[in-house]
Amino acid sequence: MSNPSTYRDASLEEKSRLLEIIYAMGCDIKDLYTVNLKNREIRPYRIAGETADSETVPAEGVLFDDLMAQYVKNRVFSEDKDLLMRNLDLSFVHYELTNKESFHVNYRTVIDGEIHYRIIKCIRVGNKETFDTILVAFASARKSHDRKQMLRDVETDDLTGIYTRQAFMLRARKLLDEFPDSPFDLIVSDIDNFKLVNVLYGEAKGDDVLRFLGEWIKEDFRDGIVGRIGSDRIAAFYFSETSSVADRVGELLAGVKKNSPVDITLKCGVYANVDRSLPVSVMCERALLALKSIKHNYSLPYAEYDGPVSSRHMKVQMYESRFERSLKEGEFVIWYQPKHDSVTEQLVGIEALVRWKTPSGKFVSPAEFVPVFEEDGLIVKLDEYVFRSVCAQMRDWRESGIHVPPVSVNLSRASLHSYGTVRKYRKIAEQYGIPLDRIPLEITESSTIMDERIKNLMRELREAGFKLHMDDFGSGLSSLSSINVLPIDVVKLDKSLVDYIGDDGGDELLKHTVELAHFKKLQIIAEGVEDETQLDFLRGIGCDMIQGYYFAKPMCCDDLIEYFKTINYDTDNE
Ligand code: C2E
Ligand code: MG
Ligand code: MG
Repeated sequence: MSNPSTYRDASLEEKSRLLEIIYAMGCDIKDLYTVNLKNREIRPYRIAGETADSETVPAEGVLFDDLMAQYVKNRVFSEDKDLLMRNLDLSFVHYELTNKESFHVNYRTVIDGEIHYRIIKCIRVGNKETFDTILVAFASARKSHDRKQMLRDVETDDLTGIYTRQAFMLRARKLLDEFPDSPFDLIVSDIDNFKLVNVLYGEAKGDDVLRFLGEWIKEDFRDGIVGRIGSDRIAAFYFSETSSVADRVGELLAGVKKNSPVDITLKCGVYANVDRSLPVSVMCERALLALKSIKHNYSLPYAEYDGPVSSRHMKVQMYESRFERSLKEGEFVIWYQPKHDSVTEQLVGIEALVRWKTPSGKFVSPAEFVPVFEEDGLIVKLDEYVFRSVCAQMRDWRESGIHVPPVSVNLSRASLHSYGTVRKYRKIAEQYGIPLDRIPLEITESSTIMDERIKNLMRELREAGFKLHMDDFGSGLSSLSSINVLPIDVVKLDKSLVDYIGDDGGDELLKHTVELAHFKKLQIIAEGVEDETQLDFLRGIGCDMIQGYYFAKPMCCDDLIEYFKTINYDTDNE
């Protein structure tokens, strides 16, 4: 029975057993082949009357792998290609059939732009210890039950059990068509720093979190459609309600926070009352734009897409056209946030954070405009303006006899890349008579990694006398090793790491980071510290400095002077 050419001489018993299995599939068989597992040759094995619309007729001597590769490439629906290739790898097939008599794979083909639901079934010929031939049946789904099951299989995301991206789009469109007069909302959720969950708890736990989220959101939006549209992005498309979107999202976020297997921060972008003339993918992009606008904003858990009139493009244009004027009219103001020693709790530093005060008196958060100005390069001017303003402020303080600890300034990647940065910044500081080590520069971790040019620039800045703080450490997860290689003085732990305090994995990671930083003779500061438990833990593991709402929020210049008084900070002493 080992050679397929002699297969036709197989015992009647074996033949009828195979036929039984084939018919039990309850589907429309198109082609039937034998495949020799040793030499990988495939040969037709036909059942009378069942070969009419054959899709795959191999020539003599064709190898199974080649035939399948071509079939998959030309016929199979793009989303199912990988699945089919994986399941029809002959070593895999052999392994599977040592455990069971047969197995099947559901997939889709595309013919003239139309989707067809198909099955490939592999059946072992002979007993499981010695078999080296298999039967491969190509069939199309016949029973509506099969079709439904198959449809479910191919439309479902393996991990979470909710719709795949493609299925989500198709289903949402169908819902729109079925209810032409109903308004719909779209929510896209995203886990803040999901990579961190995988690193801290392992990928299995990360999968648990995604499964939980899939189930939770599906349950929460039973009236709508829920799909996984990106690795940690889950979207819900549902009938607009009379209650506000804020309430709906608020409930979702609270439920997730309370029930998630590990503590995660979920953020949502909302596109309410969608424009139904748009493709669903564009609707998702709009929700994503809203989501991105709060990516670095800890205080806003969700944002709503605010309509085509003030869409991101318009906003960018508005920001850009107002930038120069705002700069001239002093609309960019500097706020200050204190940094305290973790043990003595004394004030040891201050961070300068920019705010945009519009003529109407509204303060726009840097999380909103900094990314826009980073894209078009205007940030270089803004950074310089902030640096100059801080130098001027420090000079004014000094002249009024107020001595303050070092005030750090944020520097964007674009500023680092800009020509003559070191010379320019040194000159400004000299102009105001500020020693360079009194005005440290905060550089975001993600902007420094792997970029030799930036590393060189950082070296130059340090040689000139500046202190460098690596900001947002842990948010980009460029690994602990960056502490080893970057020319820096202080490591600044990102709030997302601080938020994991109380979790075994998070505690361990923080401990190691502090140890490594100290080993490298670097100081370490934690940002976003909001409560006493966090402070106690950080102090316990030797974290040197603390910044966060626990001590103080960012405040304007006048309030800072008041703050000095409330903490009895001696401004006479330097
Ligand atoms: P960053 O440099 O990491 O600053 C820390 C951010 O965390 C600040 O947000 C601060 O207000 C907030 N924060 C501090 N402690 C806490 C806390 O306990 N809880 C919470 N929830 N938040 C806390 P802010 O001022 O909105 O600034 C956001 C980001 O904008 C900054 O992150 C920085 O990357 C950027 N940025 C601010 N000013 C400048 C600037 O002058 N130049 C550049 N290039 N970027 C700037
Ligand atoms: Mg900073
Ligand atoms: Mg930071």
